Amino acid sequence: MDKFDTFIPYGRQHIDQADIDAVIDVLKSDYLTQGPKVPAFENALCQLTGAEFACAANSATSALHIACLALGVTSEDIVWTSPISFVASSNCALYCDAKVDFVDIDVDTGLMSTQALKQKLIQAKDFGQLPKVVIPVHLCGHSCDMEGIHQLSQEYGFNIIEDASHAVGSKYQGKPVGSCQYSDISVFSFHPVKIVTSAEGGVALTNDKNLHNLMTKYRSHGITTNPSEMTEASHGPWYYQQIMLGFNYRMTELQATLGVSQLNKLSKLVELRNEKAKVYDDAFADTPLTVLKPCEQSYSAYHLYVVLLPKEKANAHKEIIETMRAANICAHLHYIPIHTQPYYKSLGFAESDFPSSLDYYQRAISIPLYPDLSEEAQQFIISTLKSLL
Ligand SMILES: *Cc1c(COP(=O)(O)O)cnc(C)c1O
Repeated sequence: MDKFDTFIPYGRQHIDQADIDAVIDVLKSDYLTQGPKVPAFENALCQLTGAEFACAANSATSALHIACLALGVTSEDIVWTSPISFVASSNCALYCDAKVDFVDIDVDTGLMSTQALKQKLIQAKDFGQLPKVVIPVHLCGHSCDMEGIHQLSQEYGFNIIEDASHAVGSKYQGKPVGSCQYSDISVFSFHPVKIVTSAEGGVALTNDKNLHNLMTKYRSHGITTNPSEMTEASHGPWYYQQIMLGFNYRMTELQATLGVSQLNKLSKLVELRNEKAKVYDDAFADTPLTVLKPCEQSYSAYHLYVVLLPKEKANAHKEIIETMRAANICAHLHYIPIHTQPYYKSLGFAESDFPSSLDYYQRAISIPLYPDLSEEAQQFIISTLKSLL
């Protein structure tokens, strides 16, 4: 098998001179943290999505945690998410001592199945075990069926946090993902492998002023400087009160300024990802591969490009990924079903609990997709994968 002359990663950040200059400017400025750049980033994210409020944090994991806390998740509660996600989607509920459960996916989309959600809700209602929060995950940047999930939330009375870590720049029904049209809170990640980066970073968006206020306090120790929230009159200009237990989940000025600079390029970067995804779509149209595609109502930021092997090829799955790696192509797998992780098994989950997720895991391959992926590298990936079928 031929080998590409350099290693092709599965994803990679795109950093230009404007990004570098912006970070250097902050280093020379008065504030490295708690200055004007974080609010500027939050404003830019509100502008982008149409959400009213944004609470930037030092990671999407932190943002998911404070989102759960703000919605009042406690040890009395149950939170549901998709098994096909990064572990942070469910760990956030465990941080609140809540019980976690999963809703199986539709294999052909990798997304939480609305039908499976409905079935599970009907059963859970009978047992008095309804979830407090459901966390749909927009895998690859492809939006879940938010209208359907929202409808069920009205019927069964749960809150929704969108784990939109993959989906900054995506749209659903013509509106930006993150608008919270069908959810209480939406979370983006700005890890370098995602669509745009702040090195580490995340944000929780909402249209609910109260939720935003709570998340802002959870982000910084549970401290308030707002006299109307204090238990007594201010002692003076130095005064603040800790009125609840929070964390230090703050984003730095360096991260926020990089985030702002990256958002200026978002639509260009997402277009490039879509162009490259289209090249893959066309190349694989006449193969037995199933390609994960966004639904008709959605425009994807294409964080990942995932193909599924046909069932009869599942036994060659590992070998195909290994062979691609040997050819310098970083084929990957997103994700190992969360419930099969040893920690989750120790909580009582069995592999067979979510059969579609298991089926997906036996056949899915993420192939490299990022704005700077060269045409030559992409053609090599296509021919290599095709030859292995
Ligand atoms: C990356 C990712 C996270 C966590 O993001 P961080 O910013 O690294 O904390 C959460 N959920 C999903 C689906 C992710 O892909």
